[in-house]
Amino acid sequence: MARRAMIISIHGDPLAELGGIQSGGQNIYVRQVALGLQQLDWEVDVFTHWQDNNVEPQVRLGPKGSVIRLAAGRKEFIPKDELYGYVQHFVRELKEYLNWSKKRYDIIHSNYWLSGLAGLNLKEYLGVPQVHTSHSLGSIKASETGLKGIGLLRRLEAERKIVEGVNCVVATAPEEMERLIKDYGACSERIALVPCGVDPMLFHPGKRHESKAQLGLEDKKVVVYVGRFDENKGLNTLLTSLEMLSRDNSSFIEDVRVLIIGGDPQSRKYLEEEICNRRLDGWVLTVGAQPHEKLPLYYRAAEVCVIPSYYETFGLVALEAMACGTPVIASRVGGLKFTVVDGITGYLVPPRDAQGLAARLGEMLHDPALAIKIGRAAANHVRRQFIWPKVVEHLSALYHEVGEWSHGKKTTLSSS
Ligand code: UDP
Repeated sequence: MARRAMIISIHGDPLAELGGIQSGGQNIYVRQVALGLQQLDWEVDVFTHWQDNNVEPQVRLGPKGSVIRLAAGRKEFIPKDELYGYVQHFVRELKEYLNWSKKRYDIIHSNYWLSGLAGLNLKEYLGVPQVHTSHSLGSIKASETGLKGIGLLRRLEAERKIVEGVNCVVATAPEEMERLIKDYGACSERIALVPCGVDPMLFHPGKRHESKAQLGLEDKKVVVYVGRFDENKGLNTLLTSLEMLSRDNSSFIEDVRVLIIGGDPQSRKYLEEEICNRRLDGWVLTVGAQPHEKLPLYYRAAEVCVIPSYYETFGLVALEAMACGTPVIASRVGGLKFTVVDGITGYLVPPRDAQGLAARLGEMLHDPALAIKIGRAAANHVRRQFIWPKVVEHLSALYHEVGEWSHGKKTTLSSS
């Protein structure tokens, strides 16, 4: 008999448009996990906040899955930082849904601390085990970005409660695992290292010149950035490194196009002003948020993808670019240290180091043979280790194991 999973992702609707203020990796993660589990005979319901008046409260996601949107007392976009006050409403509405639908679940998988809190409540209510993926940890965010204040204290306290109360925490990269143990006192036997992945049908190598031609950039070298325009994504460092490169080499402006993908209209406007102020306009271009399915075209057209983040729990963009045979230059932080093999599938540079980033960018753009060699290694690396079907198999096994474990058949998790 098929088993049924409840995935909670309050701020991350798996069907939301990506690249905006608070839609990115978590949305993709939830979508891919929900779809992948259905291939493995799970029925899946994803519960999320109803933050867009133009979408239905319930839609199908795959043959045996649904997205169920709950107003949580306020059916409109609520910034992530304000959602805490709505978690109890969300839980109440979810319980009402359970009461009238009579549905039961075998496992709860919560995503991010807000959903983790909701999950703890439902774990008690339903008497089923809970697995939790943090997506980002308050303690790392605080040390890497200077985040502080009452909001941080509340988050840290909630994260401690979650780490203590769930049956298993999924860490997507080794650094996250270490910090769960060090900062939250998590027991290593209750942490499973299960990375994120890419969809191999979508993200795979293609012909670079054909992709460039489709974008009208046949005679240009292309650098691509993909992601939200959050301060911590390091766009400032990128712009400074581009200033350095164009100052040292005037042909750069003629030969190179930097495509900046993502961002909501407001932050895109600010970025464009910044590009003009720095006299980078004309060759550093904002392209706006793009549908996920269109991204392989941009990755394949690019000689290099740059990920200048100050902090990155996992960093899906790095995987996607590498899967398309595009070398990456990424900051040596968090999950990027785990997925990018320095000198083999791309380069790692210290975060906020515009000079270092400029040096590596210059190197990659001036040596096409190097970019091709690294791009090939990158695609092989991702195909071997980081594809969603394998990741979801691992998660499914973990769900089963956690189920047995919580019913007393096992004493420790072997997946950890
Ligand atoms: N993304 C997208 N379109 C955009 C910008 C981003 O589809 O215009 C996707 C991108 O492909 C990636 C995700 O958003 O899958 C961002 O995930 P990542 O882990 O890199 O960063 P996060 O947003 O989680 O910090």
